[in-house]
Amino acid sequence: MKLVIGHFYPELLNLYGDRGNLSCLRMRLQWRGIGVTVVPLAAGEPVDFSGLDLVLMGGGSDREQELACGFLQKIKGEFYRYVEEGGTVLAVCGGYQLLGEYYQTRTKKLKGLGILGIHTTWEPARLVGNIILDSGLCADAIVGFENHGGRTWIGDYEPLGRVRLGLGNTGDGAWEGIHYKNVIGTYLHGPLLPKNPQICDLLLETALKEKYGSAVRLSPLPDELEQIAGREMVKRGRRRQGRGLFH
Ligand code: GLN
Repeated sequence: MKLVIGHFYPELLNLYGDRGNLSCLRMRLQWRGIGVTVVPLAAGEPVDFSGLDLVLMGGGSDREQELACGFLQKIKGEFYRYVEEGGTVLAVCGGYQLLGEYYQTRTKKLKGLGILGIHTTWEPARLVGNIILDSGLCADAIVGFENHGGRTWIGDYEPLGRVRLGLGNTGDGAWEGIHYKNVIGTYLHGPLLPKNPQICDLLLETALKEKYGSAVRLSPLPDELEQIAGREMVKRGRRRQGRGLFH
């Protein structure tokens, strides 16, 4: 077995160590003896989605997002088909916002990919801090760090999780991220996957199932340290509850 991971615009969308998500995906495959190739997708180059099993888009500043946006318009039809046909995607923060119809920044309306009928609007107060979610996608709480000026309005789409502590999609502390078909969009940096190996394995199992046609159960890995760290964040979060932002 083997997976091909397409990494969108590493030179533009690369905030807060989100490359760690890529290392995590790669290593958790290699540790199980599964082949992996990472294809860095350079801005402006054509993308052959038929050769990709998993797509990763990281976060970026508003300025970098604007640049990314222009390049994405040229491949939006192919990206849309990839998603509708079951392609697996992880999009973080700026990447998540770009999956939607538009991102209204302080000064400009950036046209998104329009793959999801969601949109984002900027507000001056940034939403910054550690965040904890409960998600139907995994048993453990999802832990991470958010830092965004955009508020993402997802309408009736399924969120990634309910915010236990933190601010989330619109800053009201209710819901975070999105889960649509095999796409996860989220504001969680951290990076997300090394902190939450269950989500990493879920993405890998999804991509393997799409590629090989039958359910794949990845063998367990020794994730005790990650679990201890996650539980510690949840404990700290409980202590902070009701006492404002969680840093
Ligand atoms: N520029 C976007 C915002 O501030 C996304 C930031 C990010 O990717 N962390 O909302």
